[in-house]
Amino acid sequence: MIKDIARLKKERKAIIVAHNYQPPEIQEIADFVGDSLELSRKAAETSARVIVFCGVHFMAETASLFSPHKIVLLPDLEAGCPMADTITGEDLKREKERLAHPIVVCYVNSTAQVKAESHICCTSSNAVNVVRSLDGEEILFVPDRYLGRYVASITGKRIHLWPGFCPIHADIKPHHIMEKKERFPRAQVLVHPECTPEVIELAHKVLSTGGMIKYVKESPAKEFIIGTEVGIIHRMKRENPEKVFIPACEDALCPNMKKITLEKVLHSLEALSPRVNVPEEIRLKAKNAVDRMLAL
Ligand code: 13P
Ligand code: SF4
Repeated sequence: MIKDIARLKKERKAIIVAHNYQPPEIQEIADFVGDSLELSRKAAETSARVIVFCGVHFMAETASLFSPHKIVLLPDLEAGCPMADTITGEDLKREKERLAHPIVVCYVNSTAQVKAESHICCTSSNAVNVVRSLDGEEILFVPDRYLGRYVASITGKRIHLWPGFCPIHADIKPHHIMEKKERFPRAQVLVHPECTPEVIELAHKVLSTGGMIKYVKESPAKEFIIGTEVGIIHRMKRENPEKVFIPACEDALCPNMKKITLEKVLHSLEALSPRVNVPEEIRLKAKNAVDRMLAL
């Protein structure tokens, strides 16, 4: 299958990109593995004719915003994100009315329709800088209440929060961290800002997945407790074989990220489907929000 994927990739002039939470065998066949910001940038600059997006639906949509003339394949259209799906474009319109038109910052984990109704997009690695760049206005942050709350705590800004959250990160509990800290007292605790405030409180560092990858490489520490989706540990181990990585919670597994398989990647390259397209009117508006983030 791996050979067939490589052959078809060449024939179709395709690039395969994968999020850090993808299964090991998918990370291994990808041309590029990264966090949401890195993948947005990759999507903006690739010259390939076909993009095979190994991640979830909103990520493939983001790729499509930048590449309307390329074919964007999501090997399983059912790979969604329950957090992104807590808010629709219509919900956001109503919330903007209710709050008398605040500036809307949307986490990249959102649908293109929600991005189209937002002023600026952000990722977990630049959310603090994005919010800092906004001067004195009322801010509404969607859809992740925990990332929004974390950003508010760092920037000191008052932020209206949409009540969405990531069920995977919300299930990492303080007791998981405490137990691991007891067993590995010298370990550095790294957590994702999608975690709850109680978990964030117990961390040495709060980082995006890309931030964690960089941090574990550069840190002199030898042991790390990783408070995010467990798929990231494969890459950490591969890049740092001499270091020890302990999942904060072994059950922190995103079933949607794991819907992408080698069989489905192969099939999508063969059939050039399933494709993700964003209607042009929404695409242009949503792209504005992502462009503002990239410019910043
Ligand atoms: P990052 O890779 O931007 O940290 O995002 C985490 C995530 O939950 C993506 O679904
Ligand atoms: Fe969505 Fe959470 Fe899965 Fe990321 S890990 S895709 S935020 S459910």
